[in-house]
Amino acid sequence: MNKIDNTSNNNFITTKEDLWNNCLLYIKDRIQDQAFQTWFDGIIATNLNNEEITLQVPNQFHYEWLESKYRNLIDNALKENSTHPLLVNYSVVISDKSIKDIPSLTTNEKPIPPGYKRKSQLNSRYIFENFIEGKSNQFAKAAAQSVSETPGQTPYNPLLIYSSPGLGKTHLLQAIGNKLLLQNKNMRVVYLTSEKFMLDFISSIQKNKSTDFINNYRNVDMLLLDDAQFFQSKEQTQEQFFHLFNDLFQKGKQIVLTTDCHPNELTGLKDRLVSRFQSGLIVDIQPPDLETRIAILMKKAEDDGLEIPYDVTEFIAEAIVGDIRAMEGALVKLLALSSLRKEDINMNLAKNVLKKLLGDTSFMDLSIDNIIKTVCNNMKVSERQIMGKTRIMEVALARQLAMYLSKELTNASLSNIGSNIGGRDHSTVIHACKNIEKKIIDDPEFEKKVENIKNQLTDKNL
Ligand code: ADP
Ligand code: MG
Repeated sequence: MNKIDNTSNNNFITTKEDLWNNCLLYIKDRIQDQAFQTWFDGIIATNLNNEEITLQVPNQFHYEWLESKYRNLIDNALKENSTHPLLVNYSVVISDKSIKDIPSLTTNEKPIPPGYKRKSQLNSRYIFENFIEGKSNQFAKAAAQSVSETPGQTPYNPLLIYSSPGLGKTHLLQAIGNKLLLQNKNMRVVYLTSEKFMLDFISSIQKNKSTDFINNYRNVDMLLLDDAQFFQSKEQTQEQFFHLFNDLFQKGKQIVLTTDCHPNELTGLKDRLVSRFQSGLIVDIQPPDLETRIAILMKKAEDDGLEIPYDVTEFIAEAIVGDIRAMEGALVKLLALSSLRKEDINMNLAKNVLKKLLGDTSFMDLSIDNIIKTVCNNMKVSERQIMGKTRIMEVALARQLAMYLSKELTNASLSNIGSNIGGRDHSTVIHACKNIEKKIIDDPEFEKKVENIKNQLTDKNL
């Protein structure tokens, strides 16, 4: 028996079960039901002594999530319910229910159609091994790995990954499927975009085969649906998907979705579908920091057997901030130009390529990234906040200022500035510039601040 207080007549909890159950009640009162179900339901205390309590979690990712998001809450719950401070330990369940043990199909389910695996549409290039991890994407990657290892068996069903374009959603989504197939080639994994889902559905209606259509998908073990925002305003398709979702979910099949924004921000989707989307785990991918961008470029170069000088790699990574696809595009163009001119890849070529890509007449040595960093330092906000969606006044002002300065000090186009600063569009940049111009006129203090930041930026680049 694990006692933490042996004195008689005390009201404190004495067993690990009681202590932890009381903690769970404490926690349940303080977070949303959804979060509680995902992160705390089923977590048990396996050990308790005078110094520590051990909590059992389903996997490493679950532990990392609890530690990073709920550490204070758990500590407070323990403080509230225990007579003395307790350290928290975690142990990971070693489940013998490996993927191989997932029950095979019952006889009334349809046999696997021939060629089905090829139909998974997975691109073998998209694997976890070449997905570079950084602060901006590590949770998304960990969650993806976790569902690929034990699909349908974690609370992360569905797993929804969202981000602005070009940040690795499709890569991760397909990596999940590739990994699962590598572990068990008999698994029926289907990857498709929501657009393809809709087109297939329409064509099945035209051919009077809508039952076949849905049955095809009902027999999958894992459904990877990319770009679900495309369902917006497509009511019939949503309806079909809703039923498919429920069906798969009830059978314990893993569903993974991606969208280009948080499901709360998706308009034109039925509430009940949005609520399904939100019923598992939602993780986002933020724009990668400079080091991660450099690492990604280096990895791409290495994979393609290219030799690119480090200064060129850094230069590209500095110039293209919020979109990895665009960064890869620059690399491809650079290669093309180097082979066309029969010249090794060098800074001159790189400047040429970026000038064209970013629409500059004279290439700025001052990058938007630089501007963001300097603005963040001066305005005391973090890069993550500026790149994110928050509308907290100070952050919104800093974001607008970064846009304004990028317009003033670089030759980047408005849409380029927007996409590099938190994935906004050009009209947001115009609005930001107007706002800052007005504030500069109205507020002399602010004007001084802006001048000061401008000086810091241009001094650095003289
Ligand atoms: P999204 O689906 O979010 O628009 P993609 O998954 O298509 O983005 O990613 C765009 C490109 O960037 C792909 O070629 C992908 O391999 C690459 N990419 C994105 N994130 C990473 C990363 N962390 N490491 C390596 N390559 C990445
Ligand atoms: Mg994609």
